[in-house]
Amino acid sequence: MKAAVYRGGGRLGAEEWPRPSIGDGELLLRLRGCGLCGSDIAKIVDPATRVPAVFGHEVVGEVAAVGGGVSAYVVGDRVVAAHHVPCGECHYCRRGSDSMCAAFKASNLDPGGFAEYVRVPVPNVRHATFRVPPHVSDEAASFVEPLACCLRAVRRARVQAGDTAVVVGLGSIGCLFVQLLKRARAAVVGADALAQRAVFARDLGADAAGTLEAAADAQRELSAGRGADLVVLTGGGAAVLPWAAAVARDGGAVHYFAGGGGDALPLPLETLYHRELTITATYSSSPSDLAEAFGLIAGGAVEVDRLITHRVPLERLAAGVDLMRRREAFKVYVTP
Ligand SMILES: [Zn+2]
Ligand SMILES: [Zn+2]
Repeated sequence: MKAAVYRGGGRLGAEEWPRPSIGDGELLLRLRGCGLCGSDIAKIVDPATRVPAVFGHEVVGEVAAVGGGVSAYVVGDRVVAAHHVPCGECHYCRRGSDSMCAAFKASNLDPGGFAEYVRVPVPNVRHATFRVPPHVSDEAASFVEPLACCLRAVRRARVQAGDTAVVVGLGSIGCLFVQLLKRARAAVVGADALAQRAVFARDLGADAAGTLEAAADAQRELSAGRGADLVVLTGGGAAVLPWAAAVARDGGAVHYFAGGGGDALPLPLETLYHRELTITATYSSSPSDLAEAFGLIAGGAVEVDRLITHRVPLERLAAGVDLMRRREAFKVYVTP
């Protein structure tokens, strides 16, 4: 079968790759499409990434084969399947640190979503696979995983109704945050250097959006001068952290949701101490977040279709990566 294979040093292209065979309890999916995530790009630019590798974890596929003992799915079903599943029983899982569970890190789709066929392991079939209803498009379904990560972040950040929240970076993830924070009944301010992204964020419900400077003014006004209860960083971490700390209110929080290599914390701990600031982060999602995200998408509660701006076949994945890195694309959707 064909897969988009990363060979290191920026080399990414379509190659022949062994088609996975499935065992009991597993599914084989024929790829329908897979979203390109910022974390895929982070791995491509990280020299420590082990190669060869097939990325892609926002997978929508059609069931091509069903392993022994699987009764919940039949050949031909259209499903969305996520890549990581925690054990649900260990110390980490019992405390909500699902994404730190050893089983979570060890589980994965095989070989990854940027391939013509994908094997879905047993725990993923049981806990992270959802049948897509006819009224939901493939492209919308591919947002279940990224939306789940954002849902978990909003929960971990303990957003309350009446909060003022600032979202830095209005790419596809920032636009999901804008919508979820509005659903949590916060006043939402978006910040992005690209003017058309700010316009789009306002269209999706942000109370205000603009450059960092405009966002700082807007959050001050919306919070009656206190500053933002929460600042969510979806990009530009190191450069904007001092700014984020400055616009957060005393006792407020900064939530880091980016994962870019080299981001550091240029923030005096003294500031953290005297202003009781909280810094939190979210990496990935749990099965319950996936289920909730699936429900929101199936119910049409979150606008996702308009976030996909570019569609590329597997052979042109590298071009899709360039489009995202140049910030020309919001979201790139990859098809076989
Ligand atoms: Zn992702
Ligand atoms: Zn666990």
